[in-house]
Amino acid sequence: MRPEILNSLFAEVETLDGVGPKVVKPLEKLGLTRVRDVAYHLPDRFVTRRPVENLDQASVGEQVVVPLTVTEHRAGRSGRGPYNVLAQDAIGNVCSLTYFGKASYTAKKQLPVGEKRWVAGRLDQYGQMLQIVHPDHVAEDSAGLLTTLNEPVYALSEGLTQPKVVGLATQALARLPELPEWIEPTQFSKAKWPAWADALKLAHKGEHPAARDRLAYDELLANSLALALVRADNRKRRGQRLQGDGSLRSRLELPFPLTGAQQRSIREIEGDLAQDTPMLRLLQGDVGSGKTVVALEAMLVAVEAGAQAALLAPTEILARQHFETLRRMLAPTGVEIALLTGRDKGRARESILMGLHDGGIRIVVGTHAIFQDTVTYRNLGLIVIDEQHRFGVSQRLTLAGKGRVTPHTLAMTATPIPRTLTLAQYGEMEVSRLDEMPPGRQAIDTVVVSTDRLSEMVERLAAQLEAGAQAYWVCPMVHELENEDIAAAEARFAALKERFGDAVVLVHGQLRPEAKDAAMERFAAGDAKLLVATTVIEVGVDVPNATLMIIEQAERFGLAQLHQLRGRVGRGSQKSVCVLLRGEALSEVGRERLALMRESQDGFYLAEEDLRLRGGGELLGTRQSGDAPFKLATLEQIQRLLPLAHDDARLLMERDGGLASPRGEAARVLLYLFERDWGVQLLRGG
Ligand code: ADP
Ligand code: MG
Repeated sequence: MRPEILNSLFAEVETLDGVGPKVVKPLEKLGLTRVRDVAYHLPDRFVTRRPVENLDQASVGEQVVVPLTVTEHRAGRSGRGPYNVLAQDAIGNVCSLTYFGKASYTAKKQLPVGEKRWVAGRLDQYGQMLQIVHPDHVAEDSAGLLTTLNEPVYALSEGLTQPKVVGLATQALARLPELPEWIEPTQFSKAKWPAWADALKLAHKGEHPAARDRLAYDELLANSLALALVRADNRKRRGQRLQGDGSLRSRLELPFPLTGAQQRSIREIEGDLAQDTPMLRLLQGDVGSGKTVVALEAMLVAVEAGAQAALLAPTEILARQHFETLRRMLAPTGVEIALLTGRDKGRARESILMGLHDGGIRIVVGTHAIFQDTVTYRNLGLIVIDEQHRFGVSQRLTLAGKGRVTPHTLAMTATPIPRTLTLAQYGEMEVSRLDEMPPGRQAIDTVVVSTDRLSEMVERLAAQLEAGAQAYWVCPMVHELENEDIAAAEARFAALKERFGDAVVLVHGQLRPEAKDAAMERFAAGDAKLLVATTVIEVGVDVPNATLMIIEQAERFGLAQLHQLRGRVGRGSQKSVCVLLRGEALSEVGRERLALMRESQDGFYLAEEDLRLRGGGELLGTRQSGDAPFKLATLEQIQRLLPLAHDDARLLMERDGGLASPRGEAARVLLYLFERDWGVQLLRGG
């Protein structure tokens, strides 16, 4: 149970003043549902604005406060698209104040035509037009705006304003309890860090590196400690030795020889399976590196040894694809395989459950439906998890907890992460790397093209579709607000639909899951020819007929993300092309990213380069990428502080593995604070 001392932090956001149903939603979008989350919603940055009399005195990219007179309101097409308020400065420069989504209501109220207002925000340029997107403040007189120097800027979602978030943060900070110190005393005094509550307060107030470091360290320590607990628990568990005689594997009729990397990985897995400590191994390999065959061989070892194996996929579509592939490959072996998803009902389902229970079915592929309580196995020896990052470690543990003996676990991921981060994300696992592609893979032609030539690209696309190919169109990352991405995707979708009609489908994060699945399935079936998407394109979906990918404003994407996106094409025998459309204003880093993309198709290399280019400061994984292991710690902090946290955790485990000493108690509080309490639960179970 969560220590009572944390109750005030884990109270719901509704307990803060001024949080009604209207505010709850936008807060939830930011992942802020409890007081704790608000306290940890640290400012993205701090701004100091420069007051100017007119826009000639300001430069593009600068934070300013400027008096403007409103001249006109222009609503977006059919309520979609941006809402623009045109305004003039004292010498006649026109500037557009641009709003997306519901924010336009605020604009209507705050900016009546003919009135003068002081507007605070970042001056941008869009084509020829000066613009300020979502001004931070609009006021009738300047006094209030000009006096705030060093103002925090928080990430927002539609329906929230900066002052609102400031108010909530202030309330959350007022409720911080006194928590015991969990950091090792020597480390704590050497680093000269503030105590926990002080660190949070300082981090909201201004740029305070020591406070930020402390908070990041807490997060890293919580993670290291939880992973250490998993590992310790795993050592205590009993698994079954699985030693295959090769009888089934020798019957496989693979149309290709295995690569060296595949052979090595299989040997490593075999070694683990032969132990009576349950395996915890991660198989890391870029898209197309051939993870499926490795999984197949591992599962056959289990079957040869008389056990069953299960392959868990994150989505129905992926489960189905895996099932078809594996069934084909298994045909010469006669091994019985079944597919089980949430959709299976009635008789068919019953007979599969029976087969798993009596052991007739040796291999099952499915979504998490395969681990519902109603599913019992005769002797489950191995669990393979595809696209591991979609499932939390905690979920994996509940899987592991099902039998008397713990099954071996092989997790697979196509996300090549740099070596320094492997420890952070998968600290408790052994890692096998498929760092060699099967031979004869067609390289994907990657070209960088200026956005000016967009219509030319549409023609090229038309020719491809005409010729029977399929294509992806990835829409730009517009701004900090997710909605703007969706607006951009919808606008592009509408335009392409005009040209290509029903052959186009759209996928983005705010669609209902069924709608998303339906669109994906139409595309996978070849019924839809063009898939327009934000960055949510399903990991791992394999459409070999898709040979063209166009990515808009490619320079705004991280390198690792571009690589992941590009991996959707080049999966068939046809030559594939990836077109990176670049915007006009290309930063040095943006330019370098695109050049690297043109140069290399090696995911591990690109991941290391991504890390180098992001360097210090920037948060790991933009908000869009969803699989960042940490919310607070930046890449730079991970590299600098993780080794310390790791050692600290290990030391604590050695001295006080049961977390029973006063510092152990404090560490428990930390684990709950960062919701790594599955670590604590293991303690009790063991
Ligand atoms: P991923 O690692 O992305 O899951 P897959 O297992 O789906 O990759 O393999 C991608 C493709 O490469 C499949 O068509 C598979 O049959 C093929 N493949 C796998 N291993 C080899 C190999 N050693 N030589 C040639 N082709 C291979
Ligand atoms: Mg795969």
